[in-house]
Amino acid sequence: MQGKLFLYNSINRKKEEFIPINFPFVGMYVCGPTVYGDAHLGHARPAITFDLLFRYLRHLEYKVRYVRNITDVGHLENDADQGEDKIGKKARLEQLEPMEVVQYFADRYHREMDKLNVLKPSIEPRASGHIIEQIEMTKKILDSGFAYISNGSVYFDVEKYNEKYNYGKLSGRILEDLYSNTRELDGQSEKKNSFDFALWKQASPEHIMRWPSPWSDGFPGWHMECSAMGHKYLGEKFDIHGGGMDLLFPHHECEIAQNTVAVGENSINYWVHNNMITINGQKMGKSLGNFITLDDLFNGTNQVLEKAYSPMTIRFFILQAHYRSTLDFSNEALQAAEKGLARLMKGNETLNKIKASASGNYNVSELKKNCYDAMNDDLNSPIVIAHLFDALKTINSVEAGTETIDDANLEILKQVYHSFLFEILGLKNENEGSGSNEILKEVVDMVLNLRMQAKANKDYATSDLIRNELTKIGITVKDKKDGFEWEI
Ligand code: ZN
Repeated sequence: MQGKLFLYNSINRKKEEFIPINFPFVGMYVCGPTVYGDAHLGHARPAITFDLLFRYLRHLEYKVRYVRNITDVGHLENDADQGEDKIGKKARLEQLEPMEVVQYFADRYHREMDKLNVLKPSIEPRASGHIIEQIEMTKKILDSGFAYISNGSVYFDVEKYNEKYNYGKLSGRILEDLYSNTRELDGQSEKKNSFDFALWKQASPEHIMRWPSPWSDGFPGWHMECSAMGHKYLGEKFDIHGGGMDLLFPHHECEIAQNTVAVGENSINYWVHNNMITINGQKMGKSLGNFITLDDLFNGTNQVLEKAYSPMTIRFFILQAHYRSTLDFSNEALQAAEKGLARLMKGNETLNKIKASASGNYNVSELKKNCYDAMNDDLNSPIVIAHLFDALKTINSVEAGTETIDDANLEILKQVYHSFLFEILGLKNENEGSGSNEILKEVVDMVLNLRMQAKANKDYATSDLIRNELTKIGITVKDKKDGFEWEI
């Protein structure tokens, strides 16, 4: 029934059946955040994409070791090994220890991921905790002759590598093009070619984060950590490496070159990349003035936002697009997602109430097959969601009495609806369960009773004020003849 899972493999540019190296174990490495600022919309998409994959693999009963790193050293402002360390810079500006910056933003990142119902990875290693492993890997690459020392730094010799292997096999970039694109940057550079990348960088005197090494006091190049930590925790060969499409080049291309020399060719089987989020058709960026943090989204505190959006609305919005499609953020799209999600959650409540008949005219087996087929087709979550909406129609028809369902089919329907909505898509009903929601209900009722009193006293200014303030925080009020109704 569950069928075979196919994943789009970026390195072969086609969908391939997923066959783990060491069944039933699966090793998956995903590039995590560089923690020098608040998590933003751009962080939500890879986190949710690989959470979907993690959840589905577990649902298929694979034993998954999921490693997602935290980059806390070596990520310079410019991908071409130049500029200040992003965390070091933040630490300098805020007069903090770099590790204080890392702790603060890592904690905040984790809090936002919890809100988005993103499961914790099995291991979350930090680059700064694996300097020795990175030095060892750099030594191996030097010993093999594919790197050179220059002025206390160690660089990967891309040209030499490309004579034997294929630099660009992931990104499709061709070295000839890189020559012509970057030649003018050369000159006084300590690199042989501007596209060579650092395995180890000598630290300038003002650079805070530094460690001793055979070559200089310095720090590892950004691409080293994922190569070193991935292979440390998942072995010489492992199944899946993921990340955002923006990491395809240079980060993952450089990782592949490092791995090929230090570990062996094709040490990772599937490369999986999620596409980017745009905002009203534009790339998100601080300089573009459309930079939205997750905190902004959850609280409605950003001029781009018409209101606050709940974490599950964001999660549903992201899952409504296939992970390899671009996804455009807009208030309209988020509000549509909010409504769609509410309908699916209401459907679940109805599903738990409807009764089976002695015989029924609804057969669930097709729904179940359709949902698995969609997930197996490269995690096609929008199609799964479309099938859940089809199921919802049936649920509502059964409730209305225009369709019937027998006991066995009702059981399967509940099982399919629950496992896809909650376990695999990872959504949850934000309006149920916790004690704080009971308190919220009482508080809103109380505020609305005060509003009724204000109205009775013809104090329309106060009445309108209350309504408007509630609307701002996402509570819609409907006036009725004898009172009110409200919903979040
Ligand atoms: Zn990485």
